[in-house]
Amino acid sequence: MTGINKIEIAKDNFTHRTTCRVCGSEKLHKFLSLGPTPLANSFLRENQLEAVEPYYPLDVYFCSNCYLVQLLDVVSPEVLFKEYAYVTGASKPMQAHFTGLVEDVIQNFKISEDGLIVDIGSNDGTLLQCFSKLGLQTLGIEPASNIARLAEAKGFRTVNEFFSEKCAVKIHEEHGNADVILATNVFAHTDDLEGFVRGIKYLLADNGTFVIEVPYLLNLLNNLEFDTIYHEHLSYFAVYPLIYLFRKFNMEVVDVKQVPVHGGSIRVFVQKAAKQQSQRVTALLLIEQEAKLDSLKTYTKFGEEVYSLKEKLVKLLKALKNEGVRITGYGATAKGNTLLNYCKIGTDILDYISDTTPFKQGCYTPGMHIPVFPEEEFHEDPPDYSLLLAWNYANEILQKERKYRQNGGKFILPIPEPKVI
Ligand SMILES: [Zn+2]
Repeated sequence: MTGINKIEIAKDNFTHRTTCRVCGSEKLHKFLSLGPTPLANSFLRENQLEAVEPYYPLDVYFCSNCYLVQLLDVVSPEVLFKEYAYVTGASKPMQAHFTGLVEDVIQNFKISEDGLIVDIGSNDGTLLQCFSKLGLQTLGIEPASNIARLAEAKGFRTVNEFFSEKCAVKIHEEHGNADVILATNVFAHTDDLEGFVRGIKYLLADNGTFVIEVPYLLNLLNNLEFDTIYHEHLSYFAVYPLIYLFRKFNMEVVDVKQVPVHGGSIRVFVQKAAKQQSQRVTALLLIEQEAKLDSLKTYTKFGEEVYSLKEKLVKLLKALKNEGVRITGYGATAKGNTLLNYCKIGTDILDYISDTTPFKQGCYTPGMHIPVFPEEEFHEDPPDYSLLLAWNYANEILQKERKYRQNGGKFILPIPEPKVI
């Protein structure tokens, strides 16, 4: 049974805010509605297929005061992150990325010999491991209990909590100031940004550095990466709103770099005292201005392009299906679930989705209920086409599956323009 359940908006576990989470303004404009959508990581077991599946609004807004792009429907973090599915260590490209991040921090910012490194959203300790190899003290903060336990088992001290001002005070009492605090792919997940930044300010040493990595709004817009929009990602940051936010707390963005992970991200360095600001900050602000990230029109146009992409992709898949070919999905990713639910791509089009993550195998995707199989299935009985839902790893995947392609197998890249390769 892989039918789709009746769509019903959940009554509990989410709130709708009416003010911008960076500046508090009510000048908020909805420019894209991806429709009621189940949570992107809530894979189902077979015995859950008949139960009522909670759907939540997935609408995207632009604040015309501080230019933050954001969701206003906030699903309870307890529901989203208490049992988390994404394990960093499982991803080889992420390991390599973290090694680069650590070098960047060590080379450019002062860390005392007994300095403390705190990683917020520390997952299984993959990033902390790079610092502890250098003999530095580390502390992880991870709200998902299953993953915090995994990190502890590997020997990484981990506080199993959501980061907040209260949590910062407690850590400070026990461990003192932090020389470096990192928040990779977690800042955009946070609803109470003000409380978060107050906590950072409290815990960070006066000459310490706060390092954030978030997907970059400009990449999202330019490459039509609409599928990176799901309930976990509350804010879609550009440099300007970040500067706006930190200045409220007398903190300053001192440097920013573009990095290639998650479809294009920015690595942002923030300090308490405003010392020298890198040229890179002003350069990116200029690029943002030229791209008109301060104008609602930019976003309205994006919304129209997303709609047109959906039409093209569905048309292509249906045309292929009419030719009688077999199509599967490649990578049961969270973003894939946004794409599948928005485009209503179900088992009438995709036979299954192959994925290497053991606990997703044997499950069904949220909403569209497509079965997830181990990648062996893909290799043993290759389909004619495979929809690349993990497009952020396209290069690695095309390399890995060159035999499939040599034997005539084809991939369908969904964004920025549906394309068969
Ligand atoms: Zn705002």
